[in-house]
Amino acid sequence: MKPRVLTILGATGTIGVNTLDVVARHPDRFKVFALSGATQVERMVEQIRTHRPRFAVMSEPAAAAALRDRVTAESLAVEVLEGATALAEVSIAPEVDTVMAAIVGAAGLPATLAAAQAGKRILLANKETLVVSGQLFMDAVAASGAELLPIDSEHNAIFQALPRDFDGDFQRAGVRALWLTASGGPFRTLSAEAIAAATPAQAVAHPNWVMGRKISVDSASLMNKGLEVIEARWLFNARPEQIKVVVHPQSIVHSMVEYADGSVIAQMGTPDMRTPIAYALGFPERIDAGVSGLELMGRQLTFEAPDTARFPCLQLAFDALAAGGNAAAVLNAANEVAVARFLDGVVPFPAIAASIAHALDTLAGGPAATLDDLLETDRQARRVAGAYLETCA
Ligand code: NAD
Ligand code: MG
Repeated sequence: MKPRVLTILGATGTIGVNTLDVVARHPDRFKVFALSGATQVERMVEQIRTHRPRFAVMSEPAAAAALRDRVTAESLAVEVLEGATALAEVSIAPEVDTVMAAIVGAAGLPATLAAAQAGKRILLANKETLVVSGQLFMDAVAASGAELLPIDSEHNAIFQALPRDFDGDFQRAGVRALWLTASGGPFRTLSAEAIAAATPAQAVAHPNWVMGRKISVDSASLMNKGLEVIEARWLFNARPEQIKVVVHPQSIVHSMVEYADGSVIAQMGTPDMRTPIAYALGFPERIDAGVSGLELMGRQLTFEAPDTARFPCLQLAFDALAAGGNAAAVLNAANEVAVARFLDGVVPFPAIAASIAHALDTLAGGPAATLDDLLETDRQARRVAGAYLETCA
């Protein structure tokens, strides 16, 4: 069997590290071509030592310079590249068949889209790419014959619960609805007042999953579920009313598909991202992920409705999806800016939803036909949300 040749974008992040953990369990199946990071030089040096890629890309030039010094000092056989163009180059290289897209935020869009245009197998963790450019991205996948495998645990669960030959036709497949489960995040049981006073440390302390800081705040605001609703719309060709959200605090049921005959097929497991990562890496085979079996004895699984009054970000995402056009790109960019300001301790938690609502009011309805339109929307929304957040500081 020829090993699969991988580029891992965002290798130094949480998803990247989990991906390399699974890859290391199967040295005969996978070969690492390129790894990317932004600023974490020491972690990248460790990953180069262990996985021996041909290329290491640091998006930050200063980090690339520091990495060059380190690899020279250790005589590591790797070429260090820098910047956004290099991210795309290592994603479309002819040697590469699989790209793990695990950069956080819209920063991951250009390289992920390039991989789609080049017809690669894409393991998609970077949900922001689909939120910003859903139609364009799916068109690129269809045109090139790229293969898209979802890494987000909910979408990976739905992918597993759908018929293998599902082509986006709900009627023909007898699919009535997609049910996304949400843990509810660390603020699930807090009052609106307590949420308003929440600190960054409280927001990133997720009860079930260990994740990067941005997605952890998104989980606390339920924006993560909102982004996932939009992600599901594009991945599975679902209409908004076919996508349901249910809060399931134990994160054992990772999501469900409801069929016309009343059957509901769920995918379950211990909350560990190595499961969806291994599923996508090995697809269509099942491979060891290093994850132990699910211990169900004595466990209670509970389900409740999401509360969009305390968590307005979820409703904002449904609104942006209904509005169409550039609205989801506005929502995503405003959210990225607001989350960064919140994590810096500059604005309070409710400023996140407020600045997104303001950016949507100001910018939704603008052009969204081309990638340039969407990137311009992204820039404008960052400006508009940033200015609004100044008033919240
Ligand atoms: P993280 O913050 O742990 O890692 C982010 C990675 O992106 C790092 O390698 C970082 O160096 C790189 N990066 C950051 N900014 C960059 C930039 N401007 N240019 C290039 N590279 C940059 O994040 P994560 O938790 O691994 O999440 C990555 C993506 O996967 C996100 O889109 C997230 O929504 C998605 N995701 C994560 C999880 C999870 O459990 N962590 C689950 C589902 C989906
Ligand atoms: Mg998820």
